[in-house]
Amino acid sequence: MALIVVKFGGTSVADVARIENAADKIVREVERGNQVAVIVSAMSGVTNQLVGYCDEVSQLYDTREYDVVVSSGEQITAGLMAMALQKRDVEARSWLGWQIPIRTDETHGKARIAEIDTTEISKRLKKGEVVVVPGFQGVSERNRISTLGRGGSDTSAVALAAALKADRCDIYTDVDGVYTTDPRIVPKARKLNRISFEEMIELASLGAKVLQTRSVEMAMKHHVPLQVLSSFEDHIGSDLPGTLIVEEDDIMEQELVSGIAYARDEAKVTLLKVPDTPGVAARIFEPLSEAAVNVDMIVQNISADGKATDMTFTVSRADLPKALETLGNLADLDDVDIIATEDVAKVSVVGVGMISHHGVASKMFATLAKKGINIQVISTSEIKISVLIAEEYTELAVRALHEAYGLES
Ligand code: ADP
Ligand code: ASP
Ligand code: MG
Repeated sequence: MALIVVKFGGTSVADVARIENAADKIVREVERGNQVAVIVSAMSGVTNQLVGYCDEVSQLYDTREYDVVVSSGEQITAGLMAMALQKRDVEARSWLGWQIPIRTDETHGKARIAEIDTTEISKRLKKGEVVVVPGFQGVSERNRISTLGRGGSDTSAVALAAALKADRCDIYTDVDGVYTTDPRIVPKARKLNRISFEEMIELASLGAKVLQTRSVEMAMKHHVPLQVLSSFEDHIGSDLPGTLIVEEDDIMEQELVSGIAYARDEAKVTLLKVPDTPGVAARIFEPLSEAAVNVDMIVQNISADGKATDMTFTVSRADLPKALETLGNLADLDDVDIIATEDVAKVSVVGVGMISHHGVASKMFATLAKKGINIQVISTSEIKISVLIAEEYTELAVRALHEAYGLES
């Protein structure tokens, strides 16, 4: 008998029929004698709609109220899932974030889980009850509802698995595993049987939304056996070939490049004629960080005259209004021109093989050049290379790179 956490994403609970289908899968796990905790997302499209309502009121909304609104989608599916299980004669009960509680910090909109009190749900699981928990939500130190950032139900699942010391955490989604790139963009993308935590963290943080980055970081830290599988296949459980996220040493044949990721939710900000004096970068980026704006790629040019320089950086599109508001309030930037655009995308090549092989970057640049795609910003780390390009070329770039690195099936 095992204790497992299963998570169903938005498309897997998109309507009542899908919820019933997911409930059937849970029943099969229960019949195998397993204790099952279920994490559910909101029905697909619902969270987007709720975010849309908030944006309609104001682009600079109060994030505590944003959390009240956007957390509501998961509450609906949790209740429906518990009902669907009860209809199947399985003892089931839903537990909202505050009822457990799942404690988070105060960073509303992208809160981090601090602690999960498993006392009550452990008791229920031991009695054979299925515990249904809405993903994405928690409760802050000040007892306000918080949410974990888009895609956060993955993190809810892994955090619950870690807290319960579960034997497995299964992420059911609308694809049957992690692919060399988004199979929706590149139909020839290849399914990976295994991928290392390190590579999955990079792919996820660079835009492969199949898993939220934090969920993978957490699984790595707490040694949670994690797998991604399809909720549309007829089977359930560990005998199903999805993708296992594993330690690097468990991968027999390491490829040079294991995947290509893209992110369209980027925005580029350029500051022209920034005074070239010590400390100016800190005076720009500290207030952004205090406003909880994540800055990603940064380039600063050398000033020709020693007096003024240009600086370009990227933030997520959702953070752009806040970033511009923050920059607008900086006295230092009174004479600086600020140019912002949302028509950009980041395309990245990821692989641990890069550590020991050269030529990966030059192949990327040559491939994009051949397609006439201009590179606006480049950033690299040990196992990835990212470029910022015009958004309209995203698919073209991803397909060309996928082919250039021989990733096709
Ligand atoms: P869920 O609602 O189940 O959480 P998501 O939409 O968040 O599902 O994530 C699954 C989607 O991630 C897939 O439909 C696919 O389009 C996208 N995706 C992006 N990159 C990859 C990749 N490398 N492998 C698999 N899926 C990917
Ligand atoms: N419903 C939330 C979102 O769409 C959380 C999730 O599904 O993981 O971002
Ligand atoms: Mg998701």
